[in-house]
Amino acid sequence: MNKVVSKFIDTHSLSVEEYESLLNNITSDEKEVLKQEAVKLATSVYGNKIYARGLIEFSNYCKNNCYYCGIRNGNKNCDRYRLTKEQIYDCCDLGYELGFRTFVLQSGEDLFFNDDLMVEIISHIRSKFPDCAITISIGEKEKSTYQKYFNAGANRYLLRHETANKKLYETIHPKEMSFDNRMRCLQDLRDIGFQVGAGYMVECPHQTNYDLALDLKFVEEFKPEMCGIGPFIPHKDTDYKNEKAGTLEKTLLLLSITRIILPRVLLPATTALGTINPLGREMGVEHGANVVMPNLSPTEVRSKYLLYDNKICTGDEAAECKNCMSARMKRIGYELVIDRGDFKKE
Ligand code: SAH
Repeated sequence: MNKVVSKFIDTHSLSVEEYESLLNNITSDEKEVLKQEAVKLATSVYGNKIYARGLIEFSNYCKNNCYYCGIRNGNKNCDRYRLTKEQIYDCCDLGYELGFRTFVLQSGEDLFFNDDLMVEIISHIRSKFPDCAITISIGEKEKSTYQKYFNAGANRYLLRHETANKKLYETIHPKEMSFDNRMRCLQDLRDIGFQVGAGYMVECPHQTNYDLALDLKFVEEFKPEMCGIGPFIPHKDTDYKNEKAGTLEKTLLLLSITRIILPRVLLPATTALGTINPLGREMGVEHGANVVMPNLSPTEVRSKYLLYDNKICTGDEAAECKNCMSARMKRIGYELVIDRGDFKKE
């Protein structure tokens, strides 16, 4: 076995140069070794349990213009919607009945949902479902705003760093957006006490193995409790419409590597992974992932929250998604559990 691979398995840590060399030179046999190591580690911490998060995509309005994203502000073809707070609560009621104990409230950066409204929504869900975790994923805010969400009862926050290379960040985002501010947000969330989710897309335009090596080093050092990793998939109304999607193989490799770096991390097999391959999420779990995020959004709006083309499950009812996911996990020897699924500290 290549020296870098054995060093990685022994120490769970590499330099940026070594991560890059790992990605550049890895053979299929070595990938298999990493896969097995990742599954061994995931199983030692979480057994064969898979945690489910009920995803509520409550608005596709967004003030930002991330070049890769289908709901970016500049996309005039995007049919915009916003759920009312009552509709959001209905999603939670249904989700709770279906056995979800984490609700993920995700949206574009929609200023309609100001601090007062978000606090009202979070407080309502917190008091109605004291045994559930509330995860927020609505982008970059001031620290004082994050603190209000936390005080209202939110437990976790997903904010992918997108890339740990400032130069690449500036290439795939317009100049109004700032790498330093995104990093500031992640640190603020951590300081406030959230379980924090970072993450990035695999093989997005302009990304090299060096960039991915920086992502791996960032993950190793920041130690997010959650890490969202999915393939980039082009969207027809973006400048990247003719770019190639990220591959299954590369995404699976990065999932395994991430599991080895952070044996306890909550690692989703993402919807994007399920979109590029019908068994993508199953393979994600078989490479070290331990979380899935079935959709709880009302069917009427599903097909409007399109970050990328061909997104799966846009026509299904929440119950169908849940049952389908349970069956998928069962088929590969895992159990979708009714559990908050918190990060397990040592
Ligand atoms: N607005 C929020 C959350 C919604 S976007 C935020 O900024 O955090 C959620 C994630 O979807 C993004 O972080 C990005 O990594 C991913 N995403 C966006 N466009 C994508 C695309 N074309 N292909 C794959 N993933 C994409």
